[in-house]
Amino acid sequence: VSGLERLQNKRYNKGLAFTHEERQVLGIHGLLPYVVRSDDQQVEHCRILLNRLENDLDKYVYLIGLSERNERLFYKLLSSDIAHMMPLVYTPTVGLACEKYSLVFHKPKGMFISIKDKGHVYDVLKNWPEMDVRAIVVTDGERILGLGDLGANGMGIPVGKLSLYTALAGIKPHQCLPITLDVGTNTQSILDDPLYVGLRQARATGDLYDEFVDEFMRACVRRFGQNCLIQFEDFGNANAFRLLSLYRDKYCTFNDDIQGTASVAVAGLLASLKIKKTLLKDNVLLFLGAGEAALGIATLCTMAMKEEGLSDEEAKARIWMVDSRGVIVRDRPKGGLTEHKLHFAQVSTPIDTLMEAVIKVRPNVLIGASAQGGAFTKEILEKMAEINETPIIFALSNPTSKAECTAQDAYTYTNGRCIFASGSPFAPVTYNGRKFYPGQGNNSYIFPGVALGVLCAGMLTIPEEVFLISAQCLAELVNKEDLNKGSLYPPLNSIVQCSLAIAERIVCYAYQNGLATVQPEPESKLAFIKAQMYDIDYPRALPATYPL
Ligand code: NAP
Ligand code: MN
Repeated sequence: VSGLERLQNKRYNKGLAFTHEERQVLGIHGLLPYVVRSDDQQVEHCRILLNRLENDLDKYVYLIGLSERNERLFYKLLSSDIAHMMPLVYTPTVGLACEKYSLVFHKPKGMFISIKDKGHVYDVLKNWPEMDVRAIVVTDGERILGLGDLGANGMGIPVGKLSLYTALAGIKPHQCLPITLDVGTNTQSILDDPLYVGLRQARATGDLYDEFVDEFMRACVRRFGQNCLIQFEDFGNANAFRLLSLYRDKYCTFNDDIQGTASVAVAGLLASLKIKKTLLKDNVLLFLGAGEAALGIATLCTMAMKEEGLSDEEAKARIWMVDSRGVIVRDRPKGGLTEHKLHFAQVSTPIDTLMEAVIKVRPNVLIGASAQGGAFTKEILEKMAEINETPIIFALSNPTSKAECTAQDAYTYTNGRCIFASGSPFAPVTYNGRKFYPGQGNNSYIFPGVALGVLCAGMLTIPEEVFLISAQCLAELVNKEDLNKGSLYPPLNSIVQCSLAIAERIVCYAYQNGLATVQPEPESKLAFIKAQMYDIDYPRALPATYPL
C-alpha cells in the first residue's frame, strides 16, 4: 500500500495519528498539518464535533462520513460509548436515515441488487471488491422497523446492523457486506419522490420474487462459500417466515426479526424468573400479536419448556396468542389462521378481546408485540396485578409510540409489583419512593454474538438451539444488581462482553454437536475467538525492522 493510499483509504487512514516518522517514510509528510494526535484525542475531537450538531440525522450523516474516511476511528468512537452511540448508528436514528435515505445519499455503502439483475446476480456479486466476505445482512426493504415498505431506502438497516457486528462483536468490517434486494416498492410517496435512488416500480412478487431470492442465495454461496452467514432483516411477515423455513437447513442463515427477537425476549423472561424463583414451565404466557416477533418468541419458549421437561403439547398449552382477530383458537370463525399460528391454536370457545383473554387464561406473563400503542390499558394492567403477586409485562413494540404501555403505566397500575421490559428505551421510573430502571430487550444483545460464534466455528446452518443457548447465556449475565434495579438485561455498555460470552457458548455447542467445520478444534475457545476479532487500535504503518 502506497503512502497516499494509506491516507485516502478508510481502512488504512489514521488521520492526524500518523507519526512524523510514518509521514516522512511514507512520503505523505506535508500532506497533514504538524500536529500528531493520540487515539483518545482523536475520539475526543469527534465527540466535540458531534456535540455541535443539533439533530440526530446530521449526527448520523457525520458518523457515516467518518466511517468512510477513517474506519478505525469510527469504531473507536462507537466503542468509547456504546450506550450513546448505538442509537445514532442504529434505532431510532437509522429510521430517520432510511426515511431520508435518497435525500442524504452521497456515497453508496454496500450492494444494491435489483430484480432487473435476475439471471446475473452472481456477476453483480463479483463486482464487490472484497474477496473474504463472511457475513451478509440482506433486506428487501418491505418492513423497515415499524415504518413499513421503504424500498431501496431501507439500506440504512443492513449498514447499521453490520456496523454493530463490528462494534459489538469485533467482526472485521471488510468481512461484512450489506445488501439490498431492490424488488421495487409499493409506497406511493417513494415512487413519486424525484430523488428516489431505487427501482421505480411496484414490488415484484410470486415466482419472480422467489426465483430471484433463490438465485441470490446460490450466488452468495458460489461467490463467498457455504459458511458465509446471511442474516435476513426487515422482510415482510409472509416472506420472512417462508424464506426462513425454506433456507434454514440449507444455508448459514437466520432471521433476526423472528429468531433474534425471540432470543432477547426469552433471555429477559429467564432473568425475570430468577426474581420469581419459578421455571418457565410454571407460567402461562399470553401474547398480544402473532407476527414475526411474537411467533418467534412463542416458538423459543416452547423449546425452553421442553428442555424443562414438558412435552410439545404441554408446552403449547401454556402459550396463548391474540392477533388482530382475537385469541387464536382452533376453527376460529373469524379465520385468518396461517400455518405458523395454527401451532399455537388453543381448543376454546372464541375469545374476542385481550381483556377477556386475561380473565379467561389468567396469564403470569403478558407480552406485547403487536405495534398497537397503549393496548395494555390501565384495566388490563390492574387485572394482571390482581391475578399475580409479580406479573411479568413485556411491551416490546417499537418505536416508543407503539409500545403497548409505558414503563410508568406498568409500574403504576400494578402498584410497583410488576417486572417490566420494553422494546424501546424508557427513562427510569420512580414509584412509591422506589426507582426502577426498565431494561431494553434490544436485539443487539444477541445477534452480534451469535454471528461471531457461528463464524468462528464455521457453522453451515444455524439450528434453533443456538438462540436458546444465547438466551440462557444472556440471562446468566444479568446480575443481582441489575435485577434489584428492575432491569432484566445487563447495562448496554457491557454488550461486547455479552457478545463474547454468547460466541464462546455457541462455539462450544458447535464442536460438541459436530456442527463446526473449523479444524482442528481450538483448545481455548475464548482465546480462539478473541484472536479473530477486529483490532480497533491502529497498526503501525511502517514495517518492523531488525538489525542484521
Ligand atoms: P408483524 O409480523 O407485522 O406482526 C404484528 C402482529 O400484531 C400480527 O400478528 C397482527 O395480527 C398483530 N396485531 C395487529 N393489530 C392488532 C390488534 N389490534 N390486536 C392484536 N393484535 C394485533 O410485526 P413484527 O415483526 O412481529 O413486529 C411487531 C412489533 O414488535 C413491532 O412494533 C416491532 O417494532 C416490534 N419488535 C420489537 C423487537 C424488540 O423489541 N427487540 C424486535 C422485533 C420487533 P394479524 O396477524 O392478525 O395481522
Ligand atoms: Mn429488524
